[in-house]
Amino acid sequence: MMEMAIARIRQLSAHEVGHTIGFTHNFAASSNENASVMDYPHPQFKIENDEIVVADAYSSGIGAWDKITVKYSYADIPSEMQEKDFLNSVIAEADDQELRFITDSDARASGGANAFGHLWDNGSSPAEGLKDLLEIRKKAISNFSIDNIRTGESYSTLEDVFVPLYFMHRYQTEAVSKVIGGLDYTYAVKREQQNPVKTASVQDQKDALSVYLKTLDAEVLAIPKNKLELFPPRAYGFGRSRESFKSNTGVVFDAIGAAGTASNLSLQYLLHPERAARLIQQKALDNSQLSLDELLSGLINSTLKKTFKDPYLQQIQNTINYNVLQHLFNLAAHKNAIHQVKAITNSTITSLEAWLESNSNNEVFRSQLLLEIKQFKEHPELFKPMVQAPKIPDGSPIGSFD
Ligand SMILES: [Zn+2]
Repeated sequence: MMEMAIARIRQLSAHEVGHTIGFTHNFAASSNENASVMDYPHPQFKIENDEIVVADAYSSGIGAWDKITVKYSYADIPSEMQEKDFLNSVIAEADDQELRFITDSDARASGGANAFGHLWDNGSSPAEGLKDLLEIRKKAISNFSIDNIRTGESYSTLEDVFVPLYFMHRYQTEAVSKVIGGLDYTYAVKREQQNPVKTASVQDQKDALSVYLKTLDAEVLAIPKNKLELFPPRAYGFGRSRESFKSNTGVVFDAIGAAGTASNLSLQYLLHPERAARLIQQKALDNSQLSLDELLSGLINSTLKKTFKDPYLQQIQNTINYNVLQHLFNLAAHKNAIHQVKAITNSTITSLEAWLESNSNNEVFRSQLLLEIKQFKEHPELFKPMVQAPKIPDGSPIGSFD
């Protein structure tokens, strides 16, 4: 643990020195085998022989992109070369290595469209990265125990230690959302052989959606029942902080609320009005592309149309389903949603209503959803973006612009 913490501090130090000598963030560097210390690195874990390995959590040394920026800004220009030719040759070197550069404005936006520029993500394929991370998260949750705190520490601390583990997939999820309706683009200037923008491939978008829906799966979001015994109400003097789970159950740990928070996060990125509008445009330009209808029906099939025999999983599912419905309302009523998006979303809500009416499972909860759909259809203007899901605890380990 100490070695890993020191590796992180070493990486962070290089990052801050990078700012000091004039470099900005390159959030696409993780897609180029961690080509820059100017990205935000998520620790790289892997599973080997059924154990989580943390030995290579952070890279050491600067990356290929950093060598380019240092050379471009600080190298002595060979005496036989003109400055401009030298600088162009450095850019050509970056092109040869297919290095990407995407910074804050494109990577931080919640409706972001760049398929490669993300904060705290890993890997050249965001979807593959998420698949791996969900496996690691599952294993780490199953390993989680009282031994995750020191002897003599309050049990209340254990709940806070669990937060970054439970939400471990939050940044990689955000990264995957940007592949859906996403683009591969650069900040190119006019030169030879430029291809400054292309749409993320159909296969990449479909793979991204399929993994993304796992972040809305009750079995992925349910905290195992035996782990809940580790979280008693907070001790006197050890109250909840901004880094704790929030609760709808008073002093009691809110297991259903935790799934509500995580699913709300996924839905907020997936059903962003700009992403939905891009899907309409991409489909119009290329009929093989993923459509908004396909995305919405995939979402409903993997959430609202799912039932569990286990009442705990079913209650988690009910919370996810409620969030899905609220986010559909939000998209249909959003002031920034184009009318094609509203049309498809409203039509999805109507089909869902018909399905709920014809279905006999989960009677009480189904009636509530139908009531909410009726109210929304009568008075869409009264819809307020939902506030039921407990707010997600702070996650980014450093300030927003460090
Ligand atoms: Zn920084």
